[in-house]
Amino acid sequence: MWSGVGVVLNSSTWNWSSLFQSNGLWTIVNVILFVFIFLWIISIIWVAKDILARTQNSGLQTLSILLVTFLTPILGLPLYFVIRPVYYKKDLIPRRESCALNLIACANCSTLNPKEYECCISCGEKLKISCKECGHQYPHAYAYCPICGAPNIE
Ligand SMILES: [Zn+2]
Ligand SMILES: [Zn+2]
Repeated sequence: MWSGVGVVLNSSTWNWSSLFQSNGLWTIVNVILFVFIFLWIISIIWVAKDILARTQNSGLQTLSILLVTFLTPILGLPLYFVIRPVYYKKDLIPRRESCALNLIACANCSTLNPKEYECCISCGEKLKISCKECGHQYPHAYAYCPICGAPNIE
């Protein structure tokens, strides 16, 4: 039995070494290809995480991931750096400060719009919701209706 295992090991060792010797160049090409595919997959994961942290715009999220998936990281990553939003979502002006500046952050693309606007100037998304109690129109981001104090349940 042990001699049988030895033969299997020997034959597999022989196969491997012959593979390396006869196809040395191909082995190097395979290793480079493997490293490239590994970096490709890592880039796709990194871009997906990065774009999700930067925007809620699903069109831009999909485009970014498709760019690096189909154009490879060599072309896709530089393009991604050009199109990605500069700031992370968490770094955008928080609710209270934008309120003090009379601005409304769009729930779809995070663009800051003047408070009196009904729709986002970047993507056309409706900026306000109607209060269930009094019908007053107020921004999505508000937790309570500023007129009657009813909670925002949307
Ligand atoms: Zn918008
Ligand atoms: Zn109300």
